[in-house]
Amino acid sequence: MPLTRPTVVAAALAVVMLAGCPGPSDDPEASTLAGASDAPATEVRTARVVEHVIAISVDGLNPDAIRRLGPSGAPALHRLLAQGAGTLNARTERELTRTLPNHTGMVTGRPILGPDGHGVTVNEDNGSTVHASAGRYVASVFDVVHDHGGSTALYSSKDKLDLIDRSWDAAHGSRDRTGADDGRDKIDRYRLDTEPDNVSRLVSRLGSVPDDLSFVHLAEPDAAGHASGFMSSAYLDGVRAADRQIGRILSAVSADGDLRDQVAVVLTADHGGLGGSHSDATRAADFTVPFVVWGPGVARGADLYALNEDRRTRPGRARSSYDGSQPVRNAEVANVVTGLLGLPDVPGSALGRRQLQVS
Ligand SMILES: [Zn+2]
Repeated sequence: MPLTRPTVVAAALAVVMLAGCPGPSDDPEASTLAGASDAPATEVRTARVVEHVIAISVDGLNPDAIRRLGPSGAPALHRLLAQGAGTLNARTERELTRTLPNHTGMVTGRPILGPDGHGVTVNEDNGSTVHASAGRYVASVFDVVHDHGGSTALYSSKDKLDLIDRSWDAAHGSRDRTGADDGRDKIDRYRLDTEPDNVSRLVSRLGSVPDDLSFVHLAEPDAAGHASGFMSSAYLDGVRAADRQIGRILSAVSADGDLRDQVAVVLTADHGGLGGSHSDATRAADFTVPFVVWGPGVARGADLYALNEDRRTRPGRARSSYDGSQPVRNAEVANVVTGLLGLPDVPGSALGRRQLQVS
């Protein structure tokens, strides 16, 4: 379905506004959202880069595993890095290095706590919604794509992501205030299944009617890490398994001349992990994650920090706070997706509003 996109005039305005926007707390949407039951629409964005985005979250992917496995052990991840713009030194949410809080960050572009936070600190589906955790409506990347007439899909391998689906379903999603009414259910397809079966669904859909946004969650590394230790040989096998699924997605895109020109992939992780766990938010092995963008128009083999010298700061080994200059963060997925699709920032988002440059 064609997206309804902001005009060129709005795009020019966006450049001016973004240039004057120093940081995540400088967010006019945050205050207008407080207490509101619905998310207001914003109409400032840049030019569209692609027709479809596939966002991939590899649960528990420690970037050291990518280095350790090399191009022979993790060919798809290395292909993304060689052909796209990426870093193996991105950051999770600062507050927690656990699955559900970080996935909520990825789809909302928010930190966990504070006035801009999405509020989800639980790591099990509590049967409620993100909005209940935040105390107000929290818009997601699914809202923006869907409300502009796009189609969306979420493929999950853990039932805790039911919380995400429920938060933006027909009962809990905001009404659509942008253009035609596309309804309250912001996630058209939610599938909870094994990674291979979900990727088969995605590949099939790519070959017929590709969704504007597909969000894919691959959980093999995390499962192996909890069972046998993160960075253990069993864990590395889990990363290999996830890499095979990523490879299937990349092959489906690159084998089709149309898709090759129309699809971008954004990949990150919710957290890393070392030894028995990944829950220590102060430990580099837990808060360090990869972040890669791949697709037409994206710089090949580029370091994201080199492309963004004026707007992101290399964190070294530090656990970065939300004050001052920012590292690349996994929660930037939301606004990287909207940027690639030529859509406005996610309303109320605080991270990645100063658009990450990928070319
Ligand atoms: Zn875990």
